[in-house]
Amino acid sequence: MTATHCPYCALQCGMELAPHVGSITVAPRMFPTNNGGLCQKGWTSADLLDHPDRITTPLVRDAKGGPLRPASWEEALARVSAGLLSTQQHHGQQAVGVFGGGGLTNEKAYLLGKFARVALRTPNIDYNGRFCMSSAAAASIRALGMDRGLPFPLADIAHTDAILLIGSNAAATMPPVMQYFDAQLQRGGRLIVVDPRATPTAKKATLHIQLTPGSDIALAHGLLHIALRDGLVDEAFIAGRTSGFAELRRVVGAYWPERVERLTGVPVRQLEQAAHILGEASTAMVLTARGPEQQSKGVDTVLSYINLALALGKAGRPLCGYGCLTGQGNGQGGREHGQKADQLPGYRSLANPAHRAHVARVWGTDPELLPPPGRSAYELLDALGPGGVRALLVFGSNIVVSAPNAGHIRQRLESLDMLVVADMVLSETAAMADVVLPTAQWAEETGTMTNLEGRVLLRQAACRPPEGVRTDTEIIAALAAALGCGDMFPHEPEAIFHELRAASAGGVADYSGITYQRIAAEDGVFWPCPAPDHPGTPRLFFDRFATDDGLARFHAVEHRPAAEEPSAAFPLILTTGRVMAQYQSGAQTRRIAALAKAEPQPFVELHPALAASLGIASGDLVVVASSRGRATLRARLSPDIRMDTVFAPFHWGGAGSINLLTSPALDPISRMPEFKVCAVRVEKLTLPDDSSSVSA
Ligand code: SF4
Repeated sequence: MTATHCPYCALQCGMELAPHVGSITVAPRMFPTNNGGLCQKGWTSADLLDHPDRITTPLVRDAKGGPLRPASWEEALARVSAGLLSTQQHHGQQAVGVFGGGGLTNEKAYLLGKFARVALRTPNIDYNGRFCMSSAAAASIRALGMDRGLPFPLADIAHTDAILLIGSNAAATMPPVMQYFDAQLQRGGRLIVVDPRATPTAKKATLHIQLTPGSDIALAHGLLHIALRDGLVDEAFIAGRTSGFAELRRVVGAYWPERVERLTGVPVRQLEQAAHILGEASTAMVLTARGPEQQSKGVDTVLSYINLALALGKAGRPLCGYGCLTGQGNGQGGREHGQKADQLPGYRSLANPAHRAHVARVWGTDPELLPPPGRSAYELLDALGPGGVRALLVFGSNIVVSAPNAGHIRQRLESLDMLVVADMVLSETAAMADVVLPTAQWAEETGTMTNLEGRVLLRQAACRPPEGVRTDTEIIAALAAALGCGDMFPHEPEAIFHELRAASAGGVADYSGITYQRIAAEDGVFWPCPAPDHPGTPRLFFDRFATDDGLARFHAVEHRPAAEEPSAAFPLILTTGRVMAQYQSGAQTRRIAALAKAEPQPFVELHPALAASLGIASGDLVVVASSRGRATLRARLSPDIRMDTVFAPFHWGGAGSINLLTSPALDPISRMPEFKVCAVRVEKLTLPDDSSSVSA
């Protein structure tokens, strides 16, 4: 029996894996995050270990457009290293890029960042976490001085008096977390959910605010306007613990309730109810997720919600605070240790000379040789091909399904001289590669993850990888050796973690006091943990915020429209998200029979009145189109969505890929694409029914 954690989302539920007649069985484990709960994805996670789609030998393509064929590891790695060297020789070091993932362990994220900066000397590395939490991260740093998803353990949620939960359908995406929200409600607490859809989460709420997608800043300012008008703000907290309120006070003066109702579609009566619930509560939390974050103004949107928490005095004290419900399994740790374009381990900055010097010392290299910050994820992908990045290594990401404007990104991937993908199955992106490297799964290797609370966890190997499969760290170390710096790249996870601890020491995300032994003995350790005898830091900001002067900062942001608003040609708003039985690009979950049965094919959710006006019935095949592309989907009718908005999950590729439509408009600070708002039209498909074109 091996104690470990689920391979999927950022809740990182505790589970036990046990060998069972040639396979592995999953059982839930009592752990402080899930308390013995698992969702269907967790229960079925071991089904992929012996799945027939597993790749167990490297694959190479001899000519563009030709088939992939099996190859030895020696041939595949030689092909990759020769391609990297040739590309850099002819086109410069920056012509090679690396794309990582928010599901990679801390050790992998760290090693991948080091590989890009030390072995390849390229600035061009980023990861798919840019598409998830980057706006919340940037806003938290600006307002609070540091970015850790939650500044408190999940268990605190059950004990706060009021919660404002924005753009999260946690009941579907991470069901075990709802035990804390349920307990809060049972205690008599009040839950306000902001979401354009009446999701299962919203249906639990004391108050559901069904706003127009993209209007969050106006909503947050409207709530603060009412709080100021009705004497609900905490003037003592504002004076003692914050700076910059005068300018914000002036800005929110223009967000009177009737104007905010027009901008958001939320009735004044609901605005006043929400402001009073939050303002009159003794304790309250403000929690965001992808809804407000995945916008071209995601940073300003999150800042507006942080403003509200600060002005009400609901931060920096027990059972209060702003937090982000991180999505990907290691969305938190993945953005702390160097696979992000602008970052070095320990949440250090590539643009800071002192930070470069510290990490270069640990790496045994000259800080002058470390490349500068590189392009963000979408900008990196947009620059693929002649004149830009000509060879790309991909670890832990299915780009062609998960990136916005996916048709364009497919073309950029096709224009590469060499695409190398390390994956466990032939994902849509791996199927395009020149070289595919088969990798181990979560249960076959040890490593650490950092969950949405900032708790560092240990995932322990429960079995060996199949013959012919290598771990990501073995692959990275082998490539480093082929590039002449193998002695700088350990591949054993605990040795990598030991190096990561040194690289992070003294940084914001300081792991130097954390060891595998402590994690196992203490049910995880919260960072920062700067010494072996330090207890870790479950709760942040009680004494001071992490800014230079210890004060939290207000930001006088302004509402602005989405990058793309409905038009005569595209009169509806598309918003995207996840469903319970699938995960991210679906490369794993679409292959698990029970999950595929529960959620077999892509769909679009429409209000029945909208569907009737378009002549669409439940189950019809429809075409959803934006100015960038079109997808063919099944219509699913629901009164739970606004009449001006349609919703589609992004778990499928092919003709059902909703990211063919989504907007590449980027937030100017976080470089987050606007997944949550774009303009579309919906039409009934008049061609002969061909359901196979939209199935997984
Ligand atoms: Fe896994 Fe997340 Fe489900 Fe927990 S909630 S079992 S971590 S997918």
